Amino acid sequence: MTPKGRLIVFSGPSGVGKTTVADHLCATGRFVESVSATTRPPRGNEVDGRHYHFLTDEEFEARVKRGEFLEHARVHGNRYGTLREVVDSILDSDRHCIVNIDVHGALQIMDSRPEALCVFLLPPDFATLEERLRNRSTDSDEQIRRRLETARWEMAQQHRYGHQIVNEVAEEAAAEIESLVESATHRASGGTSP
Ligand code: 5GP
Repeated sequence: MTPKGRLIVFSGPSGVGKTTVADHLCATGRFVESVSATTRPPRGNEVDGRHYHFLTDEEFEARVKRGEFLEHARVHGNRYGTLREVVDSILDSDRHCIVNIDVHGALQIMDSRPEALCVFLLPPDFATLEERLRNRSTDSDEQIRRRLETARWEMAQQHRYGHQIVNEVAEEAAAEIESLVESATHRASGGTSP
């Protein structure tokens, strides 16, 4: 049976507010965010299995070899990957699955799961993004410089996504995504678009 849940590939530059928007979607009860695996160490109060599955390089590589990832990529020097099993169990439970991933990973899913709905989240302007990144006390100047460089490149890839949404107010961006998903699901089930 085809799952009723939709796979939503969700990307955007670091600091754009993807987590906040995804949290709003999850609060509706109809969306669940897939928990990725990573080799980066946990930050602050991050919990293994809830924020990420924290793996060693060896464990990550073994899972790559076993074909357990839907996609995987290196981001800011660490490895990240989406586990097939996590995504499929969310979709099988008839809820929409959000994968919050970088552009390289997103391109892999666009190839293997062309039915995925792909959303790129944009800041109102680049200066706002820079300000948000600088105000995050967790990052060093060098990390901020790298994140801004990656952000410029990622923003130049936004045309590869089916939908681009500006994150001015997180609740509104989430509502826009929700209505995109609803109309895509309605079309797929044979209904006509409003
Ligand atoms: P952070 O380390 O700040 O949690 O995440 C850094 C970046 O890694 C974010 O841009 C996030 O979208 C990306 N990321 C998180 N999980 C995955 C994943 O499973 N696959 C890929 N390709 N990127 C991911």
